[in-house]
Amino acid sequence: MRRVAIVGGGISGLAAAFELEQRRRGGAQVEYVLYEASANLGGVLRTEHVDGCVVEAGPDSFVTEKPWAADLCRELGIGEQLIGSNDADRKTYILVRGRLVVMPDGLMFMVPTKILPTELSPLFSWKTKLRMMQELFHPPRAVDHDESVAEFVERHYGAEMVDRLADPLLSGVYGGEAAHLSVRAVLPRFAEMERTHGSLGKAMLAARRKVGNGPKRPPPPLFSSLRNGMQSLAVTLAGRLTGSSMVTGATVQALQQEAGGWVVSAGLQSDHFDAVIVALPALAAAQVLRMAGAELSAELAAIQYTSSITVGLGYDGEVRRGLPPGFGFLVPRSEGKRLLAATFVHNKFPHRAPEDRALLRCFFGGANAENVWTLGDEKIIAIVREELQQILGIRAEPLFGRVYKWKSAMAQYGVGHLDRLERIERLRRRMPGLGLAGNGYRGIGVPDCVQSGREAAREAAGASG
Ligand SMILES: Cc1cc2nc3c(=O)[nH]c(=O)nc-3n(C[C@H](O)[C@H](O)[C@H](O)COP(=O)(O)OP(=O)(O)OC[C@H]3O[C@@H](n4cnc5c(N)ncnc54)[C@H](O)[C@@H]3O)c2cc1C
Repeated sequence: MRRVAIVGGGISGLAAAFELEQRRRGGAQVEYVLYEASANLGGVLRTEHVDGCVVEAGPDSFVTEKPWAADLCRELGIGEQLIGSNDADRKTYILVRGRLVVMPDGLMFMVPTKILPTELSPLFSWKTKLRMMQELFHPPRAVDHDESVAEFVERHYGAEMVDRLADPLLSGVYGGEAAHLSVRAVLPRFAEMERTHGSLGKAMLAARRKVGNGPKRPPPPLFSSLRNGMQSLAVTLAGRLTGSSMVTGATVQALQQEAGGWVVSAGLQSDHFDAVIVALPALAAAQVLRMAGAELSAELAAIQYTSSITVGLGYDGEVRRGLPPGFGFLVPRSEGKRLLAATFVHNKFPHRAPEDRALLRCFFGGANAENVWTLGDEKIIAIVREELQQILGIRAEPLFGRVYKWKSAMAQYGVGHLDRLERIERLRRRMPGLGLAGNGYRGIGVPDCVQSGREAAREAAGASG
């Protein structure tokens, strides 16, 4: 019997356990124990139901283009609970000099694919619009080193594009800054487009033409989620695992190699395994692997994380009627606000709020999250309300407010991240039976974490059948 330990009961660890459970049920000679430090499984997947609204504390959805989370839901038999974002009403605003300006139609991330809406948009100055036209003539360029997203975008479209679009869009996903994130790790498709076409605009138009020649199908929704919230994925997953294989309230302090396997120490207990999957944020993985491999631990610890705070606010129907249509807004750093973004949940996922309610999900990240971290919930809600009043004119008292703090939860793939991953992989392979899963490596989103957990489990199961 091959014994596998899984450290961490977030979505990465649960997906790993599910993969092993499927194999066990299929007759493979494998068993597993999942160690989770807290009392609950699911990690940052947490949902509250308040006043008829589905309030997400952590992730609220995942990108549909990456199939692994939705595939898992179907395998679990909850495929009918998958919901898509209401893309007919998709509009995102950017705060520019205190006013909300809608992102023009045809922008793919920050690359314009429709000339007219971009040229007419007040989002960009004439200088940036001129840069967009000039960009179409950039020659292919082979860059042999990594660089920051800010440097890359500035080279193509200038500094205003970094401030108004690239930085706020990435802040919404990573909570970090475009000046620190690696273009190769975060926007690999764009780095490749530059290599093949030079101009991102030209590459995007060529890709569109290709799709345009194929059979016409309505595009899938940009984001998917679960009707009752993201936590229902964790709850369903946990329900499919062997109860006695999951140990909650068990913080793993250390992992040590021994002949042919691993020793896992949690509290006063130690247990022996053939393989171990560390499904933790890289920073936490560095700690449990300190004794087993100092060099690997140092590489893992060098992957930076930032903290984030989400605030859910519920309002009545009158506030809802006064809000602009669309999915929400992003705030460029240059606007000097503390909020990074807000989602109008009742528009993005109408199933998540009754018709007479507005549900806003507001987001602090990076330095702004740290600056308000020690404040109590009431103070944080007061800051959000002050900024919502300035931006949206909302003066009404919210019907409810919820604050969720996530310490060092968002991985920042810094410049050189892919080289670091190669070094980590080399060091890991020197430690047979060790697997790494989670958001610190090849994708921060829920689908990436599901895939990383399942892949690590397949490797750990090895020749068990
Ligand atoms: C606020 C927020 C919003 C997000 N929004 C989205 C979104 O909309 N879409 C999307 O796709 N992604 C989103 N993400 C990213 C995504 O949710 C995460 O990357 C992913 O859920 C991480 O899962 P995980 O299992 O790797 O880690 P975690 O969820 O962090 O789980 C790790 C688990 O390990 C446990 N643990 C820690 N140390 C130990 C130890 N020593 N021993 C035992 N257990 C330990 C922890 O208690 C925790 O339960 C968001 C993340 C946050 C924080």
